[in-house]
Amino acid sequence: MLAFTHTAAGCAFALLVAEYLHASPSQAILIVAGGILGSHLPDIDHPKSAFGSRVKPLSIPLSAIFGHRGITHSLLAVVGMYGLIWWVFNVVHWQRGYAVPVVVGVAVGYLSHLLGDWMTNSGVPLLWPSKRRFVAPLKLCTGDLREYVLAFAMYGWSVMDCVRVFHTI
Ligand SMILES: [Zn+2]
Repeated sequence: MLAFTHTAAGCAFALLVAEYLHASPSQAILIVAGGILGSHLPDIDHPKSAFGSRVKPLSIPLSAIFGHRGITHSLLAVVGMYGLIWWVFNVVHWQRGYAVPVVVGVAVGYLSHLLGDWMTNSGVPLLWPSKRRFVAPLKLCTGDLREYVLAFAMYGWSVMDCVRVFHTI
């Protein structure tokens, strides 16, 4: 799935969660920012991905050891990421009022990435180290017309939702 689509999904799902949690506008912005960041994190295992190309000292060894769509696209990575983020926040004593929405956003974005890759024909190894790939019946090819339609629908919905939320405050 394209980075463009992952960004759309991270933003749309973060907005949905912000609404579900009745987040204030400032909390919603933090959740969406975290959602966009989290939507790219799993591709840290691909040195040519939008995110991996910016952190090559990490992405190159991760790619060499695990390959693309390996551990970072598994349920194990989701659990590990949560533990790591909470540990970092506790060590630096970040104000929880700001940290929690960001952590929620990153988690939602991360999950939206796995959901997006699950919808492609390559699937995701949710039960890594098992090599079994889980694939949704939709089986999108990365960059095909259906992906663009999906991405633009999510961007459109996100913009309309932001206009609606900020118009009412
Ligand atoms: Zn991915």
